[in-house]
Amino acid sequence: MSKSSQLQAPPEGVSTVAADGAAAPGERPAGFDEIHRLWLMVNESDNAIIVAGADTRIIHVNHGFTRMFGYERAEMLGRKISETLVGPHTDMQTVQSVLQRLKLAGTHADILFYSKAGRPVWVSVVANPMFDAKGEFTNVVGVFTDITQTKMHEVLQHKVLDAMAHERPMLDIMALVCREVERIAPEVVASIVAVDADGHVQTLAAPNLPPQFCEALDGMPIGPQAGSCGTSAWRKEPVLVTDIASDPLWAPYPALKAMLGFAACWSSPIQASDGRVLGTFAFYFRDKRGPDDLHRRLVDVSLHLCALALEREEARAHIHQLAFFDTLTGLPNRAMLRGRAERTLVDMHRGGAPLAVLFIDLDRFKLVNDTQGHAAGDELLREMAQRLVAEVRGDDLIGRLAGDEFVAVLPHCGAEQAALTAERLLAVMAEPMALGGISVNSGASVGIAMFPEDGQNIDTLLRHADMAMYQAKNDGRGRMRFFSDEMNRIAQERVALESALRDALRDGSLRLHYQPQMECRASHRLLGVEALARWTHPRFGEVAPLRFIALAEECGLIGKLGRWVLGEACRQLADWRSRGVPVPRVAVNVSPHDFRDPELPAIIAATLRAHGLTPADLTLEMTESVMLDTNSPALAVLEEVHALGVRLSLDDFGTGYSSLSYLHRLPIDELKLDKSFVRDLALNPVAQALINTVVRIGDSLSLTVVAEGVETTQQHAFLAERACPVVQGFLFSRPLPADELEKWMQTSRPLGTAVPSIAG
Ligand code: C2E
Ligand code: CA
Ligand code: CA
Repeated sequence: MSKSSQLQAPPEGVSTVAADGAAAPGERPAGFDEIHRLWLMVNESDNAIIVAGADTRIIHVNHGFTRMFGYERAEMLGRKISETLVGPHTDMQTVQSVLQRLKLAGTHADILFYSKAGRPVWVSVVANPMFDAKGEFTNVVGVFTDITQTKMHEVLQHKVLDAMAHERPMLDIMALVCREVERIAPEVVASIVAVDADGHVQTLAAPNLPPQFCEALDGMPIGPQAGSCGTSAWRKEPVLVTDIASDPLWAPYPALKAMLGFAACWSSPIQASDGRVLGTFAFYFRDKRGPDDLHRRLVDVSLHLCALALEREEARAHIHQLAFFDTLTGLPNRAMLRGRAERTLVDMHRGGAPLAVLFIDLDRFKLVNDTQGHAAGDELLREMAQRLVAEVRGDDLIGRLAGDEFVAVLPHCGAEQAALTAERLLAVMAEPMALGGISVNSGASVGIAMFPEDGQNIDTLLRHADMAMYQAKNDGRGRMRFFSDEMNRIAQERVALESALRDALRDGSLRLHYQPQMECRASHRLLGVEALARWTHPRFGEVAPLRFIALAEECGLIGKLGRWVLGEACRQLADWRSRGVPVPRVAVNVSPHDFRDPELPAIIAATLRAHGLTPADLTLEMTESVMLDTNSPALAVLEEVHALGVRLSLDDFGTGYSSLSYLHRLPIDELKLDKSFVRDLALNPVAQALINTVVRIGDSLSLTVVAEGVETTQQHAFLAERACPVVQGFLFSRPLPADELEKWMQTSRPLGTAVPSIAG
């Protein structure tokens, strides 16, 4: 307690403080000079020093106090710090906690006080209690150090650098800068925006600006008259706008001004070490004003910190690019590819989905490299990389392992699809390219490994795909091989099936069968027939429609197939009409793919005309997947077809996306309740409820409901009871060739005696 005993020496004119040792007036007691020197020291210190009594009322302040806060000693006597120095942004909690701890021990805190003139002053307060001989608390001595210009910046700097050292995300660091600055200078609101290479701004942090202002700001270009930030980035110098309302720099943005709610803005460019503008750091004020000294210091420090953080971010991105991407082609390198593929494999494993790994090796890269030089070789690799990327789907991965080895990882891809993709890749890579004035034809070989059959992890899959690729090279290059024989067999069969389907479409060996659609109640009138494609191949036998339809979709034959079905169904209906066979209309299945063809309405109109039919004679059945993307051109095509007067029917209703909300927006006339619900009818109350609901929806939206897959009289009875209007299924007839359908029509009524042979 040596400090307190010194300070208890009598200051001039405050002799009451002295407990003992006071000399008589006019006499210089022993040690007076020393005490006087000490006193001078205290009084002339730059720090503000106060002495208060046990009730915290001030009994002395030094000159330093007057210099720091502007209050004369006489003004302060008898008053309390907590009543005089506090202001709008003083943290009263800190003040209270200092006061509370005071009687027990010395305390320290940084507090924002205000001078007599209202100037904010950050002070570091050290307060010490003093006790008399009996140990009673008698006085407080407080020493205030102005840290506004010094320590606050250190705190800011320390916190931000600490965050960087801990690898905190860049956006967090930017928000931290704003928050700290606002804590130190509570009268400002700070914002940091980035400026990209094209000169567009993007808010990085502005914790206390209106969010809609930042959203509106994002993407705006910088320029010579682009508000405060845009202009400051453009000029590469600070821009001060003391009255946003009237300043010409803000004139072009009345909407922004309205959202902002601040009167003034001071913005400074954040510049990289090479002088590039990386962004801006801005202070917004509620009053029409400019920055003071504290603000200038804060901005100085903040600009450095922001530049550091942004440059670090750039460097990090660059290092990431170097570490994980191949510099020549820009494709992911082996490390990146393995990492991503592993994650994709986890997803596939969880969802039980297949995945294919294609190992692609150029066939004549070495030749090009050796004969035409490395520059030509590099060019070839870049070109091949581009072709590969252009050929795959969005979630497929393409990477370059080394030299002329590329890898494609295809999620959700089975063997047939993989074979198809490999064929496409081989085709584009075999196309010649111009290299240094001559045409080079490199070509490639592809090896394929399938997950999960050929390996459970990416390394095994890569190794097996690599082995398969060598097999492909041995077999004569420019081709693909699967790792396993089973897959090779599937792929070969698929290739064979595909060419057989091509032939079938050319030579007309596809057939249509027709299945009756009946009125559910009463008369059991025939309302129409559904045309279903059939294909019997001399070698493959009867191929299931689902199989060859999917194949046609994958290999681009579906358009041709669809046109053939449409033409053949119309020809048949016209033939029945001409011979007086009373088939009211025909329904044709149309693949979602066909609805993307803007020619479809014209083709339909022309086909109907060619056979002398009217649009009302035709129904098109489509599945819900057509509507997956309501923005797609499919909807426009659908509208056009509907406008022709052709009926549209939603097939397999209930199995797909079944968003009832889109039903009323679609130009459809009919719902086909999927056969799985009819099948489950007897056992499953959910299926029953669904049928009830669909019939009611049909009623309210004036849609005809067709129940398909009706196989039993019980199912039929249930549907009749629920007033489902139309039924279709084996109970009435299998899909039949045209001539058999005619015979069925002659023998099938009345129902009950009507189920003819199950052949068909
Ligand atoms: P889909 O449009 O749902 O056709 C109804 C399927 O249900 C037909 O199978 C039909 O034979 C079968 N079916 C009819 N009644 C019953 C029954 O009582 N019980 C059961 N279990 N099944 C019944 P199919 O002929 O094998 O056709 C399968 C799918 O292939 C069709 O489903 C359709 O999506 C597609 N498809 C058939 N022909 C064509 C076509 O020409 N073009 C297009 N794009 N797709 C077609
Ligand atoms: Ca159908
Ligand atoms: Ca169906």
